[in-house]
Amino acid sequence: MSNPYALSLYNEIQNRFSVDASNMPMSEWICRNTTLRGVPFSFRKFPFQKQIVDDMHPNLCVTKISQIGLTETQIRKAAAFVTRNRGVTLLFTFPSEDMQKRTSQTRIQPLITENGVFNRAKEAGTTQIRSVGIIQIESSFLLVTSCTEGEATSTPADAVFNDEVDLSDPGILALFSSRMQASDWKLRQQFSTPTFSGYGIDQTYAVSDQHEYLLKCDSCNHWQLPLFTRKFIRLPGLPDSVDLAGIDQAILDNNRIDLDTAFVACERCGSELDLGRGDNRNWVPLHPHRTNARGYRVRPFSVNTLSPKYIIEKMLEYKRKGFMRGWYNTVLGETYEDGDIRLTDVQINACFEQGHPDRFRDVDPTRTPLFLGIDLGLVCHITVLAPRDRRSPRLQDMEVVCFEPVPVELLIERVKWYQQNFLVVAGGTDRHPFAPTANALYDATGGIVVPYEYRGGVELSDKSESDKTIQINRTMAIDTVAQLVRSGRVTFSGYGDQKDTIHLHLKNMVREETPEKPAVWRKLGGPSTQDHYFHAITFAYSALRFYLGEFTGSAQALDKRQTVWVAPAGTTATAAMSGLTSIVGAGHGPSRGRQATVGFNRLR
Ligand SMILES: [Zn+2]
Repeated sequence: MSNPYALSLYNEIQNRFSVDASNMPMSEWICRNTTLRGVPFSFRKFPFQKQIVDDMHPNLCVTKISQIGLTETQIRKAAAFVTRNRGVTLLFTFPSEDMQKRTSQTRIQPLITENGVFNRAKEAGTTQIRSVGIIQIESSFLLVTSCTEGEATSTPADAVFNDEVDLSDPGILALFSSRMQASDWKLRQQFSTPTFSGYGIDQTYAVSDQHEYLLKCDSCNHWQLPLFTRKFIRLPGLPDSVDLAGIDQAILDNNRIDLDTAFVACERCGSELDLGRGDNRNWVPLHPHRTNARGYRVRPFSVNTLSPKYIIEKMLEYKRKGFMRGWYNTVLGETYEDGDIRLTDVQINACFEQGHPDRFRDVDPTRTPLFLGIDLGLVCHITVLAPRDRRSPRLQDMEVVCFEPVPVELLIERVKWYQQNFLVVAGGTDRHPFAPTANALYDATGGIVVPYEYRGGVELSDKSESDKTIQINRTMAIDTVAQLVRSGRVTFSGYGDQKDTIHLHLKNMVREETPEKPAVWRKLGGPSTQDHYFHAITFAYSALRFYLGEFTGSAQALDKRQTVWVAPAGTTATAAMSGLTSIVGAGHGPSRGRQATVGFNRLR
């Protein structure tokens, strides 16, 4: 098109009409109608995106990584969908209001304003709604929203796109999906970096047809899935005994390794693989018969912009920050479970294997001391701890002999029944957010069941005399239970038909430790997932430890010796610490019959 007049006519046509045909793939429409920083959009840099953009499967998921431009293309796909189809509504969700606003302002709004194809009606003089959350394109709507309570209105939708599902509240996501009931389209497409195995995008991808982006070696024609493993990565100088994830600065220095020499090699012939083209690539499903769920998995070598050097440097960076999970999730696109992040199936099953489904088995009603843990809610979750030998309670030798859900209106009656029929010596419940119920329990049980308040850095602080409450450090309290489950030092019995429920509750909490904040146990996914029995067990153990006067450090500090103190009831931490010697030395008897001790303690 060298004729300047023809070129200007062509440009005018381009500007006045969108380039479209009913059989045109989405990717082509996007390239012909939209620009990025002034130049026509193209898939040349990331050829893997093309098939994902063209795929209008009603149930599609992508497990992704950072730095591969997928949010950008997904936004274009959403805008193309509402522009090419009349009278449709697409809901685009982000986990938080912050992410919604940021993406809307930096990506969505520029895309819409800078491309004429989205503004035909506006230019023709028709009023179009344009805001951070609502973009009207002729008779269609692109709604951009966050997964927060306030956004869960009932606007019907034809398509729902979810970005970063693992960070979004699953309950709200389900609510958004239910808005498509009346639509003929019912298009749901989910995207996320993975976080934990069996959760969120990992779970969705696992039941999909599982497309992997394979690559053909130019030298030997072998098709393969290049991964960040020693089978594929050539790094001259790296000793055979070192695993890639084990690389640190010392190994690089001692072996004089130059990261620039690293490359991705064919698993069969060893030639360097060309990651940058599209013609030697193919998306291949592992389970082609699963036609109801489409899944794509993007990995670092799905593109050629993330070199082995980049991946290793990122790893060293994350190692320095002590945040390897971040590297696995966002750089490799893999779930991460190592260490003390989350209880595993094997660990939980081991606790069940030692147990029995029947409640209160072999419990002597008058001689076996029991400890109650109650998680309050509309349905309360009660757990009852007994010593494994049914006689002497010890932190590392206990058995849950009953797991029971009870409606809140029957709770007090039920707890009194336990007291009347068994030897209940201590108990704990959460004080918040149901303080009146918690206080009523304290009064009804004569102070045996005490409201616990998750608060502060002090491990345990007794405020029961003045405040009818005991304050405990949340992380340390939950760490203790997690550590006991991991080491098989607790048995789960009395679960009846609730085994799966208990299992789920124990897996729904993760210990989040980021470089910026102290460790905290976080519920996976938001308000709609459940972790009640985990808390109920934690309160039962807190009651046990209080009863025994046995407060140890957090589970993470198990191999360190720690100073441990037990103060008389009503003493503040500071007062206790400063007055410790005098109290012990003067032989003051602690109130409420508990022994004041000071010294060193270890859990194992
Ligand atoms: Zn080869």
